Amino acid sequence: TFESFQTVQNASKINQTDPKKEAIARKVDSLLAIMTLEEKIGQMNQYNGFTDFTGPAPKGGDAERKYEYLRKGYVGSMLNVRGVKNVRAVQKIAVEESRLGIPLIIGFDVIHGYKTMAPIPLAEAASWDMEAIQRSAEVAAAEAAASGINWTFAPMVDISRDARWGRVMEGAGEDPFLGSDIAAARVRGFQGDDLSDPLTIAACAKHWAAYGFAEGGRDYNTSDIGTSTLYNVVFPPFKAAADAGVKTFMNSFNTLNGIPATGDKFLQREILKGKWDFEGFVISDWGSIKEMVDHGFAKDGKEAARLAVTAGSDMDMESDLYVTELAGLVKAGKVDEAMITDAARRILTVKFELGLFEDPYRYCDEAREKEVVYNEKYQEDVLDMARKSIVLLKNKGNLLPLKKQGQKIALIGALADDKSSPLGSWRIASDDGTAVSVKEGMEKYEGNTLTYAKGADVVTGDATFYRELNINETDTSAFAKAVSTARDADVVVMVLGEHGFMSGEGRSRTTLNMPGVQQELLEAVYAVNKNIVLVLNNGRPLVIDWAAENIPTIVEGWHLGSQAGNAIAHVLYGDYNPSGKLPMSFPRNVGQVPIYYNPKSTGRPNNAGDNLVFWSHYGDSENTPLYPFGHGLSYTTFKYSNMAVTPKASGATVKVTVTNTGTVEGKEIVQLYLQDPFASVTRPTRELKGYEAVMLVPGASKEITFELTGEELGFYNNQGEWIVESGDFNVWVGGSSDAKLMKSFELE
Ligand code: BGC
Repeated sequence: TFESFQTVQNASKINQTDPKKEAIARKVDSLLAIMTLEEKIGQMNQYNGFTDFTGPAPKGGDAERKYEYLRKGYVGSMLNVRGVKNVRAVQKIAVEESRLGIPLIIGFDVIHGYKTMAPIPLAEAASWDMEAIQRSAEVAAAEAAASGINWTFAPMVDISRDARWGRVMEGAGEDPFLGSDIAAARVRGFQGDDLSDPLTIAACAKHWAAYGFAEGGRDYNTSDIGTSTLYNVVFPPFKAAADAGVKTFMNSFNTLNGIPATGDKFLQREILKGKWDFEGFVISDWGSIKEMVDHGFAKDGKEAARLAVTAGSDMDMESDLYVTELAGLVKAGKVDEAMITDAARRILTVKFELGLFEDPYRYCDEAREKEVVYNEKYQEDVLDMARKSIVLLKNKGNLLPLKKQGQKIALIGALADDKSSPLGSWRIASDDGTAVSVKEGMEKYEGNTLTYAKGADVVTGDATFYRELNINETDTSAFAKAVSTARDADVVVMVLGEHGFMSGEGRSRTTLNMPGVQQELLEAVYAVNKNIVLVLNNGRPLVIDWAAENIPTIVEGWHLGSQAGNAIAHVLYGDYNPSGKLPMSFPRNVGQVPIYYNPKSTGRPNNAGDNLVFWSHYGDSENTPLYPFGHGLSYTTFKYSNMAVTPKASGATVKVTVTNTGTVEGKEIVQLYLQDPFASVTRPTRELKGYEAVMLVPGASKEITFELTGEELGFYNNQGEWIVESGDFNVWVGGSSDAKLMKSFELE
């Protein structure tokens, strides 16, 4: 079963045009020339921080063996080693005790901040603001880099249409166009212009591929998706990350059309390292090489290692299989050594680019760690990001913005008084209880009286990242106090939804309601006071059909990080006019999921007025979402007019005038959607192809111009080729994916 390695795309490809690259390539080549097979394989091995490296060497068991490997140079990378002292200690072992002294690359899940927490990535996506998103990643990188880390396992660029999947909190939502821009912005933010700058870290586009399409939204489950969706929906944000120069990719736990992604040659060799000419390296997901046995793909660990390396997985995260099996496989003629050399080359190249060979301790400066981590100035950055992430879903009844004087405000909900939940999921380095709560944020507005009542718990017991949560709270004993507090109030602010750890990895749900007894609490309060402002805290779209029908005002407040409470208070009091737009559709009920704004048309899109049953619909629900992708209101209103489309040689120019028709200054995110109504492969009913933010004072107008070119008008056919087909196109512009203003044009 020897598979010869003809697909080494980048082996010894010395770049003649970029002197810096060329110099690194030469250094890597000369290093590879003196490395033994085992040392090269060592570079492909990553371990979790298995001991405290500042202490004595561990005795006995796996830890002793792994420590020995570290000394021998059989470990190329560590993850989850915390703090500069510990990183320095482990780096010292690699550098001073191993034969060649090759430094480790230190990885960590810096997903939305390291210590100072930014909003969860899904929330950030609601800003549609690439500069702010990039800045947020820069802050995360700076803090992580000052703590000894040089590689983050982010951004997660998985598109998902299924809010049952808990990891939607980690992504940019349902749309590949917005998702691609965000992927690139995050890569730029983490990596900067020069990876050797000690304020930047290497990024990792994950999870390659189709992890967000897990069947039934159940994490780690099978993905079976067609070619057209793969090329046009799943791949684009990964391609954008690769084009932005991302240094690494992580593959995924799922099988895709029957092949575990970790062992998938098509994904890793053919597309990523082939068509896209990706020069960085691919890391497996945690234990995903070993999991190919459970998938029923490899009969044992040895076979799993062979399949993974052959498919193009360069580094093994925690399966412990490359380091134990690969040398034997090479010696037995089952794995071509050229593959090992290629993987080691890719990994060493990134280490050189990070500057680790010049100074392996460059990320290990305790003074810098003290100065950078939790630096006050980052609080402003994450506050800015948090405010931009808030989405005003509904605003009836003139409750918002709140008046600043003489009001009796009741604040209700356990999440309103929580300093941990707003930090969100995936914040393994941050210190618990360091977020500004909504209560603290609102208390700063002293002209009103604020009375707080919990009403009900959202989660009881230990709420941590690594534990299954109790989300079925049934205790209603605190309702009475909440109801009486609400009865006397002018306005009731209720903070309800999910605790920060209810979304994230392993957090799939079959119901998308507000967990526990929160819906009952909402209805009990509503019975005595209808002036309710509902502030949602959540890591995914929720089913809030009753609230949308009955509650006058709804604010999407996600999990907004360290400054959550201040950001929400600023919006509630009108010191910040919200402008966020949903990056994911909110379903009316779970049965509609997967639901997304850009489905294909069926052959029976409507009932053609004759009221028959045989058209594509549900008998008990509308087809449309409750709140569509792109939706979000402002304290002012905007009017769209003068839409004009002028065809040009290879596309069209679209113009529209936007006017602030309200009474306060506001920002609108103007969106353009396109449809190719007849094509050789059916196209979605509409697709986002442009957006632009415009800030307008009351009465002011601005003309916005979008240029559509082959890049926006084309698509990938089922052979994976980008094609542009002539014919008719429809264009919509407006403030959400439900935009009604439409024009058509023809492409010759
Ligand atoms: C996750 C990855 C993560 C890795 C390391 C895995 O369980 O799927 O996204 O980077 O763990 O923590």
